[in-house]
Amino acid sequence: MKHLLVNVVCKSNDEKEKALLELQNVCSQCRACDLCKTRSCTVFSDGNASAPIMLIGEAPGPDEDAAGKPFVGRAGQLLNTFLAEAGIDRKNDVYICNTVKCHTPQNRIPTNEEKRACQAYLYGQISIIRPKIILLCGTTALQSFIDQDLKITDIRGKWLNIYDDIEVMAISHPSYLLRQHSTEPNTPRWFMKKDLEKVKAKLDELM
Ligand code: SF4
Repeated sequence: MKHLLVNVVCKSNDEKEKALLELQNVCSQCRACDLCKTRSCTVFSDGNASAPIMLIGEAPGPDEDAAGKPFVGRAGQLLNTFLAEAGIDRKNDVYICNTVKCHTPQNRIPTNEEKRACQAYLYGQISIIRPKIILLCGTTALQSFIDQDLKITDIRGKWLNIYDDIEVMAISHPSYLLRQHSTEPNTPRWFMKKDLEKVKAKLDELM
């Protein structure tokens, strides 16, 4: 499935930051779905507007809802470790956001209606940043882009044909990996390490 991106042309980092800030300001006032009633704040993004990699997660957790930044809790710390081990610099190489920008009650999975309500912000972010690589982190992000029935275990680690000019791969969500401790071959943590090594190799090839 191809997803149409808005034709935004931001050449410099300053232009990208300005366009993202404008979109973030609109998002911060958003009341397009009921998640606006239970959030502390919208959680728009973290990272470099000119990053070559865009990582898309599910929804802000309680730590993120309090901090206003994605992936700052235990799952975020585990993600940082995996990225660093693969030689990927979270601060410079990765722009991080979520499929939906507001915390869901009891951390439940966002509904299709909530994902649809929020998708203009996500596609806006992709359109402005135009990353070289998109990582769909977890099943919610994956199913927002591809078939609703696909699971991460079916497809993680493969390059997906979604955009002509952006490489896309699905990877496991670090929240899931917090419950998986083994690093033996063919375990979820081992696959995450291998997948991010593949991402780093692709990044080196593209840069
Ligand atoms: S989840 Fe997205 S669409 Fe829903 S209120 Fe928050 S910003 Fe708006």
